[in-house]
Amino acid sequence: MFLVFLGAPGAGKGTQAAIASRKLGLAHVASGDLFRQAVDKGTRLGKSVKAYMDKGALVPDEVTIQLISERLNEPDCRSGCVFDGFPRTTEQARALDRMVTSRGEAIDKAIYIEVTEKELLKRLSGRWICRKCQAPYHEVASPPKARNICDKCDGELYQRSDDTEETVRERLKVYFAQTTPVLDYYQAEGKLFAVDGNLGMEEVSDNIIDALGPKLVKTK
Ligand code: AMP
Repeated sequence: MFLVFLGAPGAGKGTQAAIASRKLGLAHVASGDLFRQAVDKGTRLGKSVKAYMDKGALVPDEVTIQLISERLNEPDCRSGCVFDGFPRTTEQARALDRMVTSRGEAIDKAIYIEVTEKELLKRLSGRWICRKCQAPYHEVASPPKARNICDKCDGELYQRSDDTEETVRERLKVYFAQTTPVLDYYQAEGKLFAVDGNLGMEEVSDNIIDALGPKLVKTK
């Protein structure tokens, strides 16, 4: 099964994609995490994408498509995966279709997590993430029990360098300009399913699993 998670930065895409991948036993392929790992390791790819990420701009399609294509060839993606943060342009969506159809498969559903812009700004500006397990926290809405320490794994919490107010505004602008057409792309293919992301985390996750329906969930 191949699933795509769509939504603006801060919509809860990463959290929901992680939950769905656990529930369905599928690999979680998060383009932003793959890019951040490359930056942290100081690889050639990391050095070439850092400036785009720091500005809140999209990494060029060619580089991103290559990254995902390599990741898809890894053994854990053989029976499918959950895409998080990819595709973000219609060019990427077309390339993804080519990648999966060349394996005799198809994208099953695109889950769109819909959240108001006001709520997105609020969520992103107070966001903290665990360095070890990627669990998200929020200064006001869901603070950790101990300052800067993850409740789940004791990992250190950090704020993403692109979560500053200025970069957040730029990322949202880029999202609305470049990623909204991806919604139309999947809508035209009859694969788009929108869920209300303003609800609580568990409710959103239950709605997503309901949307997949027993047939998709059983194919696990
Ligand atoms: P994210 O963690 O998904 O918010 O991604 C963080 C940053 O990585 C984005 O602001 C982009 O600079 C880059 N990035 C992640 N995924 C993509 C993608 N599919 N296309 C282009 N750039 C991406």
